[in-house]
Amino acid sequence: MLDFKTWQHLIFPPACRICGDIFTAKPTSQQHITTECCAHCFKHIRIFDRHTCHRCGVPLAASLSPGPCGSCLQHAPAQQQTQSLYVYHGAVREALLAWKLQGQSAGLDWLLESAAKHLRTIFHPDDLLIPVPMPLPRMRRSGLHHSADLCLKIAALTGCATDWQILRRTGNHTRQSALQGKARQRNLRKAFSLANDYPNRLKAQQGKGQVWVIDDILTTGATLRHACQAMLPIKQDVFAFSLARVNHNQQE
Ligand SMILES: [Zn+2]
Ligand SMILES: [Zn+2]
Repeated sequence: MLDFKTWQHLIFPPACRICGDIFTAKPTSQQHITTECCAHCFKHIRIFDRHTCHRCGVPLAASLSPGPCGSCLQHAPAQQQTQSLYVYHGAVREALLAWKLQGQSAGLDWLLESAAKHLRTIFHPDDLLIPVPMPLPRMRRSGLHHSADLCLKIAALTGCATDWQILRRTGNHTRQSALQGKARQRNLRKAFSLANDYPNRLKAQQGKGQVWVIDDILTTGATLRHACQAMLPIKQDVFAFSLARVNHNQQE
């Protein structure tokens, strides 16, 4: 007679939460049942460099960390600190694309749950998480607001508050990913503004903790930088976080 585990394995075979591949190992293999991420995906997950310029988050040589880097010495960004969790690469990229393009968040959830302990060292329950807003027409079209969704997921793991209406998107609505360099900068200038009722919203939501601006993927850092810039009128330090960041130095 089949025991419960074998039966469960036959009816609902355990699958990798990132690529969806069904584990072929027999149910006696504890390792595959408990990890939830296949060896191939696991091998291609990179934690973002811990030696960075703390202000803007770019990787630096260990001896130069925590910076400031040359660029921050010249023009420091509005945010006091920038942290990223994973390198936007391999299985992390796959999980984020599945979430953003197909609405499948199993891989993203696994990445967040796996980092829950670390997230609780970054975020305090008194902190307030503010998502980088997306243009309203795009949000209406897709019915999704990814960075707001990400904030809710992080808030569920850390106990932070989140408010997606404090920071608004204004101006030109061209997709950032469709633009390069200077055009990106032009598009971003004046792309963000605070809601008129931001003082009340801040008062209602914020404990005594820090204010964070949250984005899912950081490419050049320009979007996050401009979003944090728009937060300056709140007259408090603003911190920035992205779940993943493109590592331009990485050779793969
Ligand atoms: Zn996998
Ligand atoms: Zn820097």
